[in-house]
Amino acid sequence: MSSDLTIELAPTSSPHSAQERARLLADPGFGQVFTDHMVSISYTQDGGWHDGTLTAYAPITLDPATSALHYGQAIFEGLKAYHQPDGSVALFRPEQNAARFQRSARRLAMAELPTELFLDSVRALVRADRDWVPTRPGESLYLRPLMFATDPFLGVRPSLTYRYLLFASPAGNYFPGGVRPVSVWLSTEYVRAAPGGTGEAKCAGNYAASLVAQAQAAEQGCDQVVWLDALEHRYVEEMGGMNLYFVFSDGRLVTPELTGTLLPGVTRDSILHLAPDLGLDAEERRITTEEWERGCADRSISEVFACGTAAVVTPVGEVKHAGGSFSVADGEPGAVTMKVREALLGIQQGTAPDPHGWMQRVV
Ligand SMILES: *Cc1c(COP(=O)(O)O)cnc(C)c1O
Repeated sequence: MSSDLTIELAPTSSPHSAQERARLLADPGFGQVFTDHMVSISYTQDGGWHDGTLTAYAPITLDPATSALHYGQAIFEGLKAYHQPDGSVALFRPEQNAARFQRSARRLAMAELPTELFLDSVRALVRADRDWVPTRPGESLYLRPLMFATDPFLGVRPSLTYRYLLFASPAGNYFPGGVRPVSVWLSTEYVRAAPGGTGEAKCAGNYAASLVAQAQAAEQGCDQVVWLDALEHRYVEEMGGMNLYFVFSDGRLVTPELTGTLLPGVTRDSILHLAPDLGLDAEERRITTEEWERGCADRSISEVFACGTAAVVTPVGEVKHAGGSFSVADGEPGAVTMKVREALLGIQQGTAPDPHGWMQRVV
């Protein structure tokens, strides 16, 4: 049966030389350097999940009628492997990504990849490409699982066949020059997700729909777009591809509650669990743009930060909307933001204890 599938190892005969790899790892940036291998697993209705292989990273061939290219049955994940002080490599909460990948698949009427197969694929790739895991502080190996519909068929219905791919990309320090707050544009013209839509799923189409709003934010001189609820354009949902936290001056953390239109981030969830360890009360509830602006004016909101796998924790300094703009405190990274950031990074990089058992050693 499919869940007993093991991943066959067929490593490349022409990996990058150690010298080439070192050159690529010197300044990897984000999402532009790829390692030597990838994993592929196929799904058919009759055969279930089959043909799990680890092979050379290489282009793939697709029929022009491939249904994902037309109707968008395509989902993905993002997680990281971190170099540890003892020389091992560990993953951060990979079972959370496996579970979310299944929920995304369900929402898009796609086949669900068994958790163990997802985890096996990640472990196999990290083991094969362990020399690609960067070792400097703030660096990591970013892992990108994805799945798409492969039926060569133009009829509109869920595909009967799927392809799962996993590849890896070394990621540099997101803030090489030190943590810098971002400016955000509150979008009222565009929405990311509406009730009953796909906002909770990590699907390709959500990102396609977000790009014009991100371009509008850039035109307004802002780094990122902040999404509001689709019905009233009042409630804050998230920022670009990251979730948001509001720090109140009495030490409370508030993050927008998961109403079905927000992407439930693993980083968001981790901060909810970490907050009590740091002496902070964390609360999930709805928060309006008026409360945000008023809170910054009367100083009851002292910091705002965004969180996600790629940048971990990013302070928000400036807010702009159709009716004006305001700053969060003095626009500098706040003490609570930096405390949360350091606490998470400490666990991920193995320089702090891991009381919640979040790290999984792979090799
Ligand atoms: C992936 C993602 C996040 C952050 O999730 P993490 O699991 O913390 O990386 C937040 N918002 C959107 C829209 C996302 O796609």
